[in-house]
Amino acid sequence: MTSTNASPDRAADLARRLERVRTRISAAAPFGAAPTLIVVTKYFPASDVELLAGLGVTDVGENKDQEAAAKAEETASLGLSWHFIGQLQSNKAKSVVRYADAVHSVDRPSLVSALAKAMAREQQRRAAAGLEPRKDLECFLQVDLRDPSAGHGAGSAADHAGPSRGGVLPAELPALADAAAAAPGLRLAGLMAVAPLDEDPRDAFGRLQDLSLQLREKYPEADSVSAGMSGDLEAALASGATHLRIGSDILGPRPPVR
Ligand SMILES: *Cc1c(COP(=O)(O)O)cnc(C)c1O
Repeated sequence: MTSTNASPDRAADLARRLERVRTRISAAAPFGAAPTLIVVTKYFPASDVELLAGLGVTDVGENKDQEAAAKAEETASLGLSWHFIGQLQSNKAKSVVRYADAVHSVDRPSLVSALAKAMAREQQRRAAAGLEPRKDLECFLQVDLRDPSAGHGAGSAADHAGPSRGGVLPAELPALADAAAAAPGLRLAGLMAVAPLDEDPRDAFGRLQDLSLQLREKYPEADSVSAGMSGDLEAALASGATHLRIGSDILGPRPPVR
């Protein structure tokens, strides 16, 4: 890890980068409701999370359970909201519901079941320990936005152009939404997506906005849209993103994947 732990330089560096991103957000969404800025702290130390909290950051995102659980515990006194944004194995659900307010990567019915079961257990654990129950888990359904018209076949996942960046195909979204909406302990918050690499993100996020409008016909409260990363936050805001997930433009370049 190349970042310097909580040095004055690091604090100034984070403050400058955060300010630059906040300026971009207000320039891109001057009149709309302010989006929730989730600062993605993956690969960076808990000391950076502390510095960010001191700069007014309230929401942080992580994509690996082990790393997230450790950082959330280390910074528990700060009262931050933790967003799980990575591919999630069902056997990690039990751990994730101990610290995460939201999961942005709900991509299959079996994960919905695992999260609901984990939430029931977590509430029992809290009651037995004399703790308050936790709030329902906010669930964003992750959509695969690869352009179906760019594929060569009859529309199966394998026929799409470009590599998958995760998520359920749009055709499978209604059934997944029904499962999440019906699951006790979960709240269907809305949709999430990562823009495909081989397409203008404005087109992909436009499709996401259409899917969000369709979802809201049946579930009006599922009106959140988690879209937009360092490179495409403007495109996401133009298509109605309510939650941005910004990592490298605030934390700096990530160390090589371990
Ligand atoms: C890492 C990550 C981000 C942040 O990406 P940056 O380009 O560093 O801003 C956002 N969303 C997901 C799902 C990620 O894994």
